[in-house]
Amino acid sequence: MARIVMKFGGTSMAGTERIRRVANIVRKQQAAGHEVAVVVSAMAGETDRLINFCREAHALYDPAEYDVVVASGEQVTSGLLAMTLQSLGCKARSWLGWQMPVNTIEAHSKARVETIDAPEMIASMEAGAIAVIPGFQGVSADRRITTMGRGGSDTSAVAVAAAVKADRCDIYTDVDGVYTTDPRIVAKARKQKAVTYEEMLELASVGAKVLQTRSVGLAMKEGVRIQVLSSFGDEDAVPADEMPGTLIVSDEEMDQLVEQGDMERQLVTGIAHDKNEAKVILTRVPDKPGAVADIFGPLAEASINVDMIIQNVGRDKGETDVTFTVPAADLARAQALLEDRQEQIGFNRIITDDHIAKISVVGVGMKSHAGVASDMFRALSDRGINIQAISTSEIKVSVIIDEDETELAVRVLHTAYGLDAKDDAA
Ligand code: ADP
Ligand code: ASP
Ligand code: MG
Repeated sequence: MARIVMKFGGTSMAGTERIRRVANIVRKQQAAGHEVAVVVSAMAGETDRLINFCREAHALYDPAEYDVVVASGEQVTSGLLAMTLQSLGCKARSWLGWQMPVNTIEAHSKARVETIDAPEMIASMEAGAIAVIPGFQGVSADRRITTMGRGGSDTSAVAVAAAVKADRCDIYTDVDGVYTTDPRIVAKARKQKAVTYEEMLELASVGAKVLQTRSVGLAMKEGVRIQVLSSFGDEDAVPADEMPGTLIVSDEEMDQLVEQGDMERQLVTGIAHDKNEAKVILTRVPDKPGAVADIFGPLAEASINVDMIIQNVGRDKGETDVTFTVPAADLARAQALLEDRQEQIGFNRIITDDHIAKISVVGVGMKSHAGVASDMFRALSDRGINIQAISTSEIKVSVIIDEDETELAVRVLHTAYGLDAKDDAA
């Protein structure tokens, strides 16, 4: 017998028929002898719909009330799943964020889990009841509802798995694992048997939304075993206990898999894209100490995350251009904030562009192999794709390109690094 946390995403929970499917998958896991907790997302599209209501109600809405509104999507699906499980003869009950409770910091709309104290829930699971938990939501110290950022149900699931000391956290979604790139963009993307925490963390942070970045960081810290798998398999699909999906593993486990011949060591693990960034260029910034601090200090104070930064070689007359990227959702705020400080910073013009995409190549193999970046630049230039900015880390190279070229760039790089599935395996 094992204790398992199962998480189902929005597409899996979209409508009562799909919820019945999910209930059957959950029932089977319990019938296999496991103790089960289930974390659910809102129905697909529901969170977007609720966010729109908030925007319509007040352009500058109160984040605490926003959380009250958007957390409701998960409350609906958790109740519906508990009822459906009961209709199949299972003992089940919902445990809302404030009931368990899932204690988070106060940062509304981007809260982080601090502790989950769930003795009652664990006792109820031990007594044979299935615990159904709405993802995405928690409660702050001042007893207000919080939510954990888009895609946050993944993090709820990992946090619950750590709290109940689960043997495994199965993340059920609409694809059957983590692929070399988004399988909805590249038909020849290959499913991976395993990916290391480090690589998955980097892939998620540069746009592979199959797992929320924070969920991977938390799993790595708490040693939670994650499997990503599909909730859309048919009746005779391989059972979850036989690990049909993708495992997120430590470096040591990956070495073992390679030794056993279950995995090949790859230079590049995956390619991700992100269309949610925007570019800002400030022209003719004074080329002197303190100028860059004057630009990025106020952005940091306003909690606007700056990703890539390029300072061009100084022009004559002691001036330089500074280019950087921010989340597209923060572009208007960043622009207004910089315009207010134009005189103090001393730039000439501000040029913005949200029609860009970030394409990233990730792989631990890069630590020991040179040439991954230059191969990337060559492959893109061979197809006439212009690179507007570059950034690198130990295991990643990212470039900014025109958004219209996103799909082409991902496909070209997937082929260039030899990641395409053979036709018979595709
Ligand atoms: P859920 O609603 O279950 O949380 P998401 O939509 O958040 O599902 O994440 C699943 C989606 O992630 C897939 O449908 C796929 O389009 C996308 N995706 C992006 N990159 C990858 C990748 N490398 N492997 C698998 N899926 C990916
Ligand atoms: N419903 C939330 C969202 O759409 C959380 C989640 O699905 O993980 O972002
Ligand atoms: Mg998701």
